[in-house]
Amino acid sequence: MIPAPFQYHKPASVAEAAELLKKHGSDAKILAGGHSLIPLMKLRLAQPEVIIDIGSIESMSYVQERDGGTAVGGTTHYVDIANSSIVPTALSEAAAQVADVQVRNRGTIGGSLAHSDPAADLPAALIALKGQIITSSTGEHRTIESNEFFQDLFTTSLREDEIISEIFIPSESSGTGSAYVKFANKASHYAIVGVAASVTIAGGKCTEASIGVTGAGPAAYQASASVSDLIGSNLDNADVEKASSKAGEGVEFNDDVHASGEYRAHLVTVFTERAIKLASSRAG
Ligand SMILES: Cc1cc2nc3c(=O)[nH]c(=O)nc-3n(C[C@H](O)[C@H](O)[C@H](O)COP(=O)(O)OP(=O)(O)OC[C@H]3O[C@@H](n4cnc5c(N)ncnc54)[C@H](O)[C@@H]3O)c2cc1C
Repeated sequence: MIPAPFQYHKPASVAEAAELLKKHGSDAKILAGGHSLIPLMKLRLAQPEVIIDIGSIESMSYVQERDGGTAVGGTTHYVDIANSSIVPTALSEAAAQVADVQVRNRGTIGGSLAHSDPAADLPAALIALKGQIITSSTGEHRTIESNEFFQDLFTTSLREDEIISEIFIPSESSGTGSAYVKFANKASHYAIVGVAASVTIAGGKCTEASIGVTGAGPAAYQASASVSDLIGSNLDNADVEKASSKAGEGVEFNDDVHASGEYRAHLVTVFTERAIKLASSRAG
């Protein structure tokens, strides 16, 4: 199908994009890689009157070590994140597993986070790595912690006038390993369930942990009960199994043509165990 008519703007900077967003308000939509928005427009599930295309703003695409962490520009493509040697492993591993080459070459980190598809890969990695989402609006920047960003199905704490301009991931403590593993839909590669883990080991014990889960419920989340169990443990098989069995606690599981809620609950336990073990094998 062909999208409904729209006005098209191609700003040269984030500031210009923010001005346009302020001017057009709820009539406008940001366009980045277009791999989620364009299909919605073709199906007429989205009919923005104004498109603000930020996909060519060069200053928004980068991966840099800065301020004690890694800064990733809002329109950085998956392929550049997957190939980066400075991005923490859980994030590069998640980006490398998104869809296919075509989607990885066009899709952007900001687009993935703003869209907040319940089956998207990057939200789980960002939560596990305690990443921050930096937004820009006219004359203002805001920092949102990733565990507060994903609120519900396709719903985030992003305001209508805000653009995701950067993602910041604090440096990992020494002795930390991270990983992302998923059970993928065979056709689209979206996560039926995906789990990212970050584990810090010192003196043979787990001193810090963080686990992000996607695909299971309406939005990606931190598996807090599993994290509490892991910290202070020796990370032996029994510890990891017990912690993993709690990763779905309190979740209202998605139940659709791809997998029942019961099957997703099972996958969450299995993939949390795998993610913790893989992250631990890279830690210490
Ligand atoms: C065939 C196919 C398979 C896919 N498989 C996977 C998969 O396995 N895993 C996965 O995670 N994803 C998958 N996707 C989705 C893909 O990752 C999209 O690229 C992503 O969801 C959106 O990123 P985008 O840059 O294309 O954003 P767009 O489609 O351009 O925009 C998506 C939404 O985000 C908003 N937006 C975009 N950028 C910003 C910004 N910087 N600030 C504020 N709002 C912004 C837009 O207004 C729009 O509402 C797949 C898509 C396709 C077509």
